[in-house]
Amino acid sequence: MGTHAVEEATDSATVPSRTGLLIIGASQSGVQLAVSLRALGFDEHITLLGDEDHRPYQRPALSKEFLQGMVGSESLIFRSNDYWTGHNVDLVKGEYIARIDKEADGTGVAHASSGRQFPFSRLALAVGARARKLEIDGSDLDGVLYLRNADDALALKSRVGDAQDVVVIGGGFIGLEAASSLQKMGKNVTVLEFGPRLVGRAVGDETAEYFLQAHRSRGLDIRLNATAARFTAADGGGEKPHGVAAVELQDGTVLPAQIVLIGIGVIPNTQLAEQLGLDVDNGVVVDRFALASDGTTVAVGDVANMPNPVPGSAPGERIRLESVNNAIEHAKVAAYSLTGHRAEYAGIPWFWSNQADLKLQIAGLSNGYDQTVLRRDTERGKFSVLYYRQGQVIAADCVNAPLDFMDVKNALAKGQNIPATAAADVATRLKIITTDS
Ligand SMILES: Cc1cc2nc3c(=O)[nH]c(=O)nc-3n(C[C@H](O)[C@H](O)[C@H](O)COP(=O)(O)OP(=O)(O)OC[C@H]3O[C@@H](n4cnc5c(N)ncnc54)[C@H](O)[C@@H]3O)c2cc1C
Repeated sequence: MGTHAVEEATDSATVPSRTGLLIIGASQSGVQLAVSLRALGFDEHITLLGDEDHRPYQRPALSKEFLQGMVGSESLIFRSNDYWTGHNVDLVKGEYIARIDKEADGTGVAHASSGRQFPFSRLALAVGARARKLEIDGSDLDGVLYLRNADDALALKSRVGDAQDVVVIGGGFIGLEAASSLQKMGKNVTVLEFGPRLVGRAVGDETAEYFLQAHRSRGLDIRLNATAARFTAADGGGEKPHGVAAVELQDGTVLPAQIVLIGIGVIPNTQLAEQLGLDVDNGVVVDRFALASDGTTVAVGDVANMPNPVPGSAPGERIRLESVNNAIEHAKVAAYSLTGHRAEYAGIPWFWSNQADLKLQIAGLSNGYDQTVLRRDTERGKFSVLYYRQGQVIAADCVNAPLDFMDVKNALAKGQNIPATAAADVATRLKIITTDS
């Protein structure tokens, strides 16, 4: 499983045998939790329940290959129905849990908005996050869209054929990935970013500037410090509501748009945790073992706010990560907890984002860096930024530089360092200059 040292738990972490484990949220982290539990020999019944009508699928392609029509929906499905049946996992689709009654011993009943009830002896929250909404004039017009799930992607795909002009609101990863895909599909795309640079706080200034220049040089119209004031419809008269036709900016600029795609971040789905009285603070607060404040419920993936798992991070520092890698690793930690063991988060958090021909890979977390080293091979189109805290490398953003990514990730995993004084030399591979302290 690749997780840190395992030891026997001494408290009541094991699952009582009655109604089994209910995992709410059937996506990256919920699926991984069920799979990891079976790999660990967990023999209680598992219900893997989600509100979407689709079999659990991978989200990353929704803004990339699936949107561009390069892969079909079937290839995004995590596991076949046979897998779930063969592993005694009840997969329940299309049920939204609206309320949970839970006893002090961790058992309870989850109530779906359909009226169905799901009793459980142990509960896992893998409910992820939802798209943050932009509420301005015209935001309810047809063609104003988001991109968080498969239905969103299908809605976008169904409109793309008739649209020539697309305005993407938000210059974060999802916005830039979707903008690049739509541009590749021949659309006239404008990206509006409210802030002074791209990609928020997820990367440093150098990487943000690199992406700005790289996208602009590929013909993407990116406008920084640009705020949408309202969306307007075509003035067609008649009774039929009209779709969006334009975006009006605060400075008075009007951009034609038959599609507006909003990607301004996500909000963790903490409603159930709040209703249960669990500690919530930008996500469900969990300990190192993915246990929520009641000591029995586990919470994993995008919804969980956990202690920073990176070795050497400041004591008490907490973090909520939104990535596939985190959903997988965090679910493994929770699987250990649910089988009566304790294992801490293993490995170094990493992330990827593909935008046009720009393949970004991020190793580690750059929070709290005090120095950066730029490693740029313009000839080969490679670009990396290494982040340091007090002389120790803590993270790297690597664009089209998979060896840099791998070398930094390996160094971080082994607690090694890559001296800042030597890291800029692109002629030398980073693993050659890696040192033990
Ligand atoms: C378009 C897109 C592209 C992405 N690209 C990348 C990428 O390139 N690299 C990367 O590392 N990450 C990427 N991500 C992020 C990654 O997909 C997420 O981090 C990951 O899906 C998180 O998994 P999760 O299971 O924790 O949450 P989610 O995937 O959000 O799943 C939670 C599930 O729970 C369901 N649910 C919520 N509340 C309830 C309820 N009350 N009852 C029943 N069901 C409920 C939700 O509908 C959802 O199906 C991307 C995400 C998107 C949307």
